[in-house]
Amino acid sequence: MMGRKFFVGGNWKCNGTTEEVNKIVSTLNAGEVPSPDVVEVVVSPPFLFLPLVKTSLRPEFQVAAQNCWVKKGGAFTGEVSAEMLVNLSIPWVIIGHSERRLILMESNEFVADKVAYALSQGLKVIACIGETLEQREAGSTVAVVAEQTKAIAAKISDWTNVVLAYEPVWAIGTGKVATPAQAQEVHFELRKWLQANVSPEVAESTRIIYGGSVTAANCKELAAQPDVDGFLVGGASLKPEFIDIIKSAE
Ligand code: PGA
Repeated sequence: MMGRKFFVGGNWKCNGTTEEVNKIVSTLNAGEVPSPDVVEVVVSPPFLFLPLVKTSLRPEFQVAAQNCWVKKGGAFTGEVSAEMLVNLSIPWVIIGHSERRLILMESNEFVADKVAYALSQGLKVIACIGETLEQREAGSTVAVVAEQTKAIAAKISDWTNVVLAYEPVWAIGTGKVATPAQAQEVHFELRKWLQANVSPEVAESTRIIYGGSVTAANCKELAAQPDVDGFLVGGASLKPEFIDIIKSAE
């Protein structure tokens, strides 16, 4: 880990009613977890629930939006701007999730532009990358994630507020988690890429987290990998077991 604080994100995706959100928040507020010196916890409800979660969640847990617009707000019907998130004191945003890349056709360029704009407005960014099953089977995993990272690296200079989330598409929502060795291999390659193409300092300090079917049952072994600095959790972040995943920081 080398001084990189463990990071656990909960991506609630397009789920929840007010009642369900209140229930998840109560569970999180009651959970016994390691101190904020040991683990950074960030949950990401849908936009509509952000203010509710922000005001009701224990103060050491932070919130993230799941997306934001690529430039200054204005005549972009249906979008939410980075400025609005800043205005509501939402500190984090998830950008480039594979569901947006694949279903909403967000390209590497578009994702990179969003990351750059969000950072320029003072947001912290969880930038998601990852290969599809087809790409993995073709042996192009490292090339794909390097290309995705390269597009981002070309548009930003300061990585302080970036967490890189490696989320293999074949592992997301499938129950088919990457093995600790598979995750470690890609995280190691990503760190090597950052070292060669950005700087040794950025490679050393940037947190690279894993996402894709993380559960209470598999998180410990993954967390023990030297280049796995935390998780982005989908399905399990809606359940009490999210607390156990946060505990894997210790
Ligand atoms: P999952 O989703 O944990 O449900 O696989 C992870 C993600 O999409 O961030």
